[in-house]
Amino acid sequence: MGLVVQKYGGSSVADAEGIKRVAKRIVEAKKNGHQVVVVVSAMGDTTDELIDLAEQVSPMPAGREFDMLLTAGERISMALLAMAIKNLGHEAQSFTGSQAGVITDSVHNKARIIDVTPGRIRVALDEGNIAIVAGFQGVSQDKKDITTLGRGGSDTTAVALAAALDAEVCEIYTDVDGVFTADPRVVKKAKKIDWISFEDMLELAASGSKVLLHRCVEYARRYNIPIHVRSSFSGLQGTWVSNEPTGDKVEQAIISGVAHDTSEAKITVVGVPDKPGEAAAIFRAVADAEINIDMIVQNVSAASTGLTDISFTLPKAEGRKAIDALEKAKGSIGFDSLRYDDQIGKISLVGAGMKTNPGVTADFFRALSDAGVNIELISTSEIRISVVTRADDVNEAVRAVHSAFGLDSDSDEAVVYGGTGR
Ligand code: ADP
Ligand code: ASP
Ligand code: MG
Repeated sequence: MGLVVQKYGGSSVADAEGIKRVAKRIVEAKKNGHQVVVVVSAMGDTTDELIDLAEQVSPMPAGREFDMLLTAGERISMALLAMAIKNLGHEAQSFTGSQAGVITDSVHNKARIIDVTPGRIRVALDEGNIAIVAGFQGVSQDKKDITTLGRGGSDTTAVALAAALDAEVCEIYTDVDGVFTADPRVVKKAKKIDWISFEDMLELAASGSKVLLHRCVEYARRYNIPIHVRSSFSGLQGTWVSNEPTGDKVEQAIISGVAHDTSEAKITVVGVPDKPGEAAAIFRAVADAEINIDMIVQNVSAASTGLTDISFTLPKAEGRKAIDALEKAKGSIGFDSLRYDDQIGKISLVGAGMKTNPGVTADFFRALSDAGVNIELISTSEIRISVVTRADDVNEAVRAVHSAFGLDSDSDEAVVYGGTGR
């Protein structure tokens, strides 16, 4: 029996009962002969509550202090979980990200893991302990400051540790039975996927399926770590994410699923002179503010001639920063005005089968139009097509597309065991 890494999300450890339930599950894995490393998230919505608190004392908290605050959430759950395991008669030790050897760059709030040196975890395991590691945090290589990996980052901690410790599998325990063909909170008829390729999972995650974070899938693909996404509330087999189908023969579906995302906003730069170098200047200003953008569209300006409008989407959380950066560069770029719209949503259809099946795009647009949904922006990759719509239309649009592509299940409704969906 080898080493397993198990990650429990916030909804699985939302209260004392949840922690005790999860402790029993961990002890079972240990009794089955595995060495067990557990990565744990903050309890329930603790991270959101800490963010709310920070915003009450400062509108733009400094990154270093913000990270120090947020990592407190995982410290609480890791210590409580270790106590609960000891109470069941087994040895457990908890470790912060820093103690576990999670070394990152120094970009606060969205640090990247650059190395994992889990010496202390190895020692703890060799001494017979279950090792509990705080997710979503690390320590910066240069300044030795505490960092966080961005929302949902415990998934990445788990896969990074699994790679560094050469684990058999990385199990991600959450509040649904696996990866579904759409978010079960929105589509009751979503189907559980038995196996999905890294490639398709990467696109789903990048398009807003927060059941797995896309950096975590990227990491798993790079180090070829199979991920098993499953519920901590049921004993069911979940979804395997890997290079090759595992277990019973499962074929790659043409369409893997529908993802949606309402965490983005749209900025329109109005009245940009239609000449070379303008787009470069706009996106240089945004990039220098360390903001990642998603979709881009350029239109002939409705207002005047010889000018264009350039729209792009970005995380809502970066909206203020982007507007400030563009306002500052207004003189040198030369545009009329900026428009900010945070009432948008994105719907994406994902599947490697798109490459070889013509007509997928046409069917996707037909489904949206039949549902009366207007499309504002479009972007595609080889295996994904995404549109931006009004935020109010998103749920309806996801259900319509899911049905149109024959993804609705005709048996059980998807179960959501916990969590608030926040
Ligand atoms: P955790 O606290 O365990 O990290 P998350 O809230 O981050 O849990 O992720 C689980 C949630 O992801 C589910 O409750 C579900 O609402 C959402 N989700 C979005 N898309 C999907 C999908 N395609 N399959 C399963 N869950 C999804
Ligand atoms: N607690 C952090 C968050 O809510 C990290 C995680 O849960 O993965 O984003
Ligand atoms: Mg998560």
